[in-house]
Amino acid sequence: MGYTIRRVAVIGAGTMGAAIAAHLANAGFAVDLLDIPPKSLTPEEEAKGLTLDHPEVRNRIVRAGLERAKKAKPAAFFVEDRARLIRIGNTEDHWDRLREADWIIEAVVEDLAVKREVVARIEAVRKPEAIVTTNTSGLPLREIGAGRSPEFLAHFAGTHFFNPPRYLKLVELIPGPATKPEVLDALERLLELRLGKRVVRAKDTPNFIANRIGFLSGAFVGKYTIEQGYTVEEVDALMGPLIGRPKTAHFRLLDLVGLDVAAYVGQHSMAALRHDPFVALVQDSPMNQVMAAMIERGWLGNKAGQGFYKKV
Ligand code: NAD
Repeated sequence: MGYTIRRVAVIGAGTMGAAIAAHLANAGFAVDLLDIPPKSLTPEEEAKGLTLDHPEVRNRIVRAGLERAKKAKPAAFFVEDRARLIRIGNTEDHWDRLREADWIIEAVVEDLAVKREVVARIEAVRKPEAIVTTNTSGLPLREIGAGRSPEFLAHFAGTHFFNPPRYLKLVELIPGPATKPEVLDALERLLELRLGKRVVRAKDTPNFIANRIGFLSGAFVGKYTIEQGYTVEEVDALMGPLIGRPKTAHFRLLDLVGLDVAAYVGQHSMAALRHDPFVALVQDSPMNQVMAAMIERGWLGNKAGQGFYKKV
C-alpha cells in the first residue's frame, strides 16, 4: 500500500530533534515535538511561585530545544511563520498525540535503554501503518526494536539525519530487522522529494557508514593532537577551510555535535568494534580523559555555550 505522510511526531527536542522538526515544518508538514517534563524547577520558576505541574514548567525542555534550533547558526528556520506548524508538548501529558502521527521519529539521547523504552511506548499508541524511525547515530536497530511486534517491526527503520539537518543532504536509511520494502521505498521518496535529502541505504552495522568512518578518523585526530602537542586551533586550521570544511573542522564539529553525544557514540563504537585493529590503536587515547573532564564540567559544546570553543 502507499503511505501518505501528513503529520509527523518527533520525540526528543535536543540538537537533532528540534532541528529535524524545523526542517519538516519548513517542508510544510504538521509536526508534534515532544520532550520530557523537567524534574526540578529553575530559580526563575521558583521565584515566580511555579510548581512542577504548571504547564509552563512541564513544556520547558521542549520549548528551550525549539528556541535553540531557531537561534542556531546556520538557522533551522528559513520559511517565515512555519514554526507555527510545530505543536510542542511533553512525553507525559501529550503522548496521545502520537495516535495522529503518520511518521514518528525517535530522536532522544543515544542510550539504548532509553530508546528501547521510548519505542515500546510508541508501539502502544501508534496507529496501524504509522512508520516509526530512529535517528540513532549507530546503535543496532535490532536491539532498539527487540521485543516489539512483527507489525511494528515491519514499519520500523532508521533515518539517520546529519547535523545540521537543514543543510546536510545526507540521510542514511537503515532497514530494521523486518522492515517492509514498501516502507523503505516510501521513506526514501519522502526524504528525497519532500525533504530535499540524498538517501544512502546502509546496513544495520555498528555506526552504519558515515559514523563508522567519522568515529575512527576523529579518534585518530584526537589522539595525535594531544600526543604530538598540537593545539585545537592548529588542528582546525588544517582540517577546516583549507580542505573545504569551514564550519566543521574537527573540534568545531565536536562542539556542534555535542561532546556528550560524541562520547556516547565513541563508547558504543569502542565496544561494538573492539576486535577492529584500528580501534585498538585509539583505545587509550588521552583525548578520552580530556573529553570526560569537559563533560563533567558541563562543557558540552554549542548547546551549552562552551566546548572546545567558547560560545560559537
Ligand atoms: P541531545 O542530547 O541534544 O538531545 C536529546 C534530547 O532527548 C534531550 O532534549 C532530552 O531531554 C531528550 N530525552 C531524553 N530522554 C527522553 C525520553 N525518554 N523521551 C523524550 N525525550 C527524551 O541529543 P541530540 O544530539 O539531539 O541526539 C539525539 C539523537 O540523534 C541521538 O540518538 C544521537 O546519537 C543522534 N544524532 C545526533 C547528532 C548530533 O550531531 N548531535 C547527529 C546525528 C544523529
